[in-house]
Amino acid sequence: MIKFGPAGNSDSFYAQGYKSSLDMPAWLHNMSLTAYEYSLARGARLRPELAVRLGEKALEQGICVSVHAPYYINLASDDPSAIQKSEGYILDTSQTASLLGARRVVLHPGSVGQNSRKHAFANVKRNLEQIIIKLKQAKLDVALCPETMGKKNQIGSLDETLELCLLDPSMIPTLDFGHLHAVDGGALIHEQDYRRIFERLLAVLGEERGRTIHIHYSRIEFTEKGGEKKHWTYSDTAYGPEFEPLAQCLNEYGMSATVICESRGTMAEDAMTLKKIYDRIREDYLFRLENI
Ligand SMILES: [Zn+2]
Repeated sequence: MIKFGPAGNSDSFYAQGYKSSLDMPAWLHNMSLTAYEYSLARGARLRPELAVRLGEKALEQGICVSVHAPYYINLASDDPSAIQKSEGYILDTSQTASLLGARRVVLHPGSVGQNSRKHAFANVKRNLEQIIIKLKQAKLDVALCPETMGKKNQIGSLDETLELCLLDPSMIPTLDFGHLHAVDGGALIHEQDYRRIFERLLAVLGEERGRTIHIHYSRIEFTEKGGEKKHWTYSDTAYGPEFEPLAQCLNEYGMSATVICESRGTMAEDAMTLKKIYDRIREDYLFRLENI
């Protein structure tokens, strides 16, 4: 089962005269999309009554909502007050996610800063473990989804992300294929490059658990030195990574995934394009199975 949808609201949604995200679920349903990532990237709070209403509308329209936690979370820090703040943001985001009926909370773990990478990662791991205990105490049934990051100085390589997910069975990795491509200077070219990621995922999380993932996808510009520079749209074909090999892997490995498109401005339209590509690959595969 693969769900497709946008991160946030497309430019065309506003161009058509809509103003409120409350109209998004019906708008997405009309486009045959089934997922929606609501961004709390610039603040963990959404008025509770608004969150509940949006959650109800999403449920009515068969839209699976996920939430993106604030960008300024940094669990790699040595500063206890900074950690306390980040912890508060994650708890607030999870509270809002619950009101929205969203289970998945995507988060950026933190940046390496002045520390060694090893030290920064150990901090993230320890802090995340504490936060998961607090989420359980607060009876917030969310799945924290740490993301693979696109800049070299951020915690969130593929291996780090998978290791974080081993902290608790509730956790789900967010594989951002734009980031995975950008951080290694354009690493995703051949189908084999994508397949290596899926093999690693299943080796670390196991054949069963490893099949449930969250995905971010967009074409991306990067620099050799720092990694991620800018997200582009699907029609900006000068930039990779390509989606076809990813769709092939999703089908071949029998994945259960939500694919969130993070194109600039055209995220919903591009999510539709991604869905069409996947559906075509899936149909071809089923056709071949029947005709063996
Ligand atoms: Zn993100």
